[in-house]
Amino acid sequence: MTSTYHQLLDATIQHLEDLKSRGVRHVAVAPETLRALAPPPAGKSQTANPKSQMDKAAAPSLSAPSAISAPGAGQTTMLALPGEVPALDARPSALDKVAAFAALRERALACVKCPHLASSRKNVVFGVGSIDAQLMFVGEAPGADEDEQAEPFVGKAGQLLTKIIQATGLQRADVYIGNILKCRPDTPGQSAGNRKPTADEMATCIPYLHEQIDLIRPKVIVALGATAVEGLMGKTLGITKLRGTWKTYRGIPLMPTYHPAYLLRNQAMSEKRKIWEDMLAVMEKLGMTISEKQRNYFLKT
Ligand code: URA
Repeated sequence: MTSTYHQLLDATIQHLEDLKSRGVRHVAVAPETLRALAPPPAGKSQTANPKSQMDKAAAPSLSAPSAISAPGAGQTTMLALPGEVPALDARPSALDKVAAFAALRERALACVKCPHLASSRKNVVFGVGSIDAQLMFVGEAPGADEDEQAEPFVGKAGQLLTKIIQATGLQRADVYIGNILKCRPDTPGQSAGNRKPTADEMATCIPYLHEQIDLIRPKVIVALGATAVEGLMGKTLGITKLRGTWKTYRGIPLMPTYHPAYLLRNQAMSEKRKIWEDMLAVMEKLGMTISEKQRNYFLKT
């Protein structure tokens, strides 16, 4: 067996052990990723013929549904509009993707580009979930709970996000969750509270998110709240005007919606329904089956 294969396998094992140490018990893995983890035939180099590797690894993904596409099984190809999905030849093999993601994570964990955040953070909060996810959520920045636990969206707003994800029939492990900023914005002189990331901090950190998006290639991105939209699209309209309207980001359909923290402050049924309508649109875009019960969530009777 080749040393390249072992290096990539080590990177995969390290990544999984890291997830496990942070309490993750299940990960959604695309069939082609699993296939790529199988040892190469004796005497054959894993990278000797990248084209044939890619053909083998990527082609089944067009028909084999991953965990997230299960509700609308077999509809993956219908979602790929011309130009949205890179040509098969341009895709990294599944194992290269795992390794590239692990390497990106290592770089982000060591980042000191914002010295004030590097010195105040407890952890770099890189992101969590499946690197084969079809659905990706992007939030603003870690808060105190996330900084403590090194995982995005684990505080009160995060627990609400988890419930929203589960209401669609998915689990957190089926999707990918990241933030515009990987470090908690510091609040010097304050023992509690959060602050919005500055434009400089967002511009400095956004390349990590770009790389995450480019490797995952989700079918849909959901931007949670005004700062996430601003970080991704620049300053545009306010979130009240933007939410519920499809945008395109790096060739990927993007749905802006309210941040779950907004729902914690405003528990009105009408506001819950707005986020839910945005999620219904996302589910439709992903070809997921939507039950009558799901269609009617948060409608007054
Ligand atoms: N709010 C965010 O935008 N991101 C988190 O990770 C937690 C709360």
